[in-house]
Amino acid sequence: MDLITEERVNTDVIAISDSDRLNWITIVVLVILHIGAVAALFMFSWTGLAVALGLYWVATGFGISLGYHRLHTHRSYKVPKWLEYFFAICGTLTLEGGPIFWVAVHRIHHHKSDKLGDPHSPRDGAWWAHVGWILIGETKHNNTRMMGKYAPDLARDPFYVWLNNYHWLPILVLAAALWAIGGLPLVLWGVCLRVVCGLHATWLVNSATHMWGSRRFATRDDSRNNWWVALITFGEGWHNNHHAHPTSARHGLTWYEFDPSWIEIKIMKLFGIARSIHVAKVDSGITDREAA
Ligand SMILES: [Zn+2]
Ligand SMILES: [Zn+2]
Repeated sequence: MDLITEERVNTDVIAISDSDRLNWITIVVLVILHIGAVAALFMFSWTGLAVALGLYWVATGFGISLGYHRLHTHRSYKVPKWLEYFFAICGTLTLEGGPIFWVAVHRIHHHKSDKLGDPHSPRDGAWWAHVGWILIGETKHNNTRMMGKYAPDLARDPFYVWLNNYHWLPILVLAAALWAIGGLPLVLWGVCLRVVCGLHATWLVNSATHMWGSRRFATRDDSRNNWWVALITFGEGWHNNHHAHPTSARHGLTWYEFDPSWIEIKIMKLFGIARSIHVAKVDSGITDREAA
């Protein structure tokens, strides 16, 4: 069973891209989403805006920040299995790929940060780090053995294998539901515009926060703390803090580093949902540029 499972995972990863060629399916989907996002602006409604904001919170906030990143990749806290699965489904609604793919790529990023083998380092170009690495397949970020090696915990779980293979299914169900409720305008706001904003916000963590911002910790990579990226990513912009303390569930380490995901984890703790929470131990008097 495990062997079959791993084989399927590996096949799926290969299918994502295993050469230097352009990934045309990804390019076409991204172009359509961007056209839909611009079209949404001509069909404004308060309902559309509210649905887009709500889904942005669910997909990028719950799915990526609380789920794929702080929970599935770094295991910085624990929640009941059903909630872990729910966060993973939310993560697929961003169209950033399935949980095994996302986790493997991100663990490789931490392992090789800004060095040879980093899937998305601005040292290879700002646009490469932002989106180019997704459009062009390169073995250095899609090595099958590496994928299996970096996400064996998820690859052992049949649900995550299924979700990784069918990561596009939840957003299709969502799009159909939005179409039934509010027609094309609601699909353009709740899917196209919302997904495009979520993608660029996440990509800015890969590009901007490895170029612009302050460095509190003298990490061996180029990671920075960037307040405006943090604002649009539920706290993920405190990226230098994160690279210095990858397993910390808390990314904003001072009172002025607004970290909505950390607040949500504290709320989950209050209700007994989140436990085993790792928090970086830092001096209360830390200031920016301490590492300078
Ligand atoms: Zn990074
Ligand atoms: Zn990380």
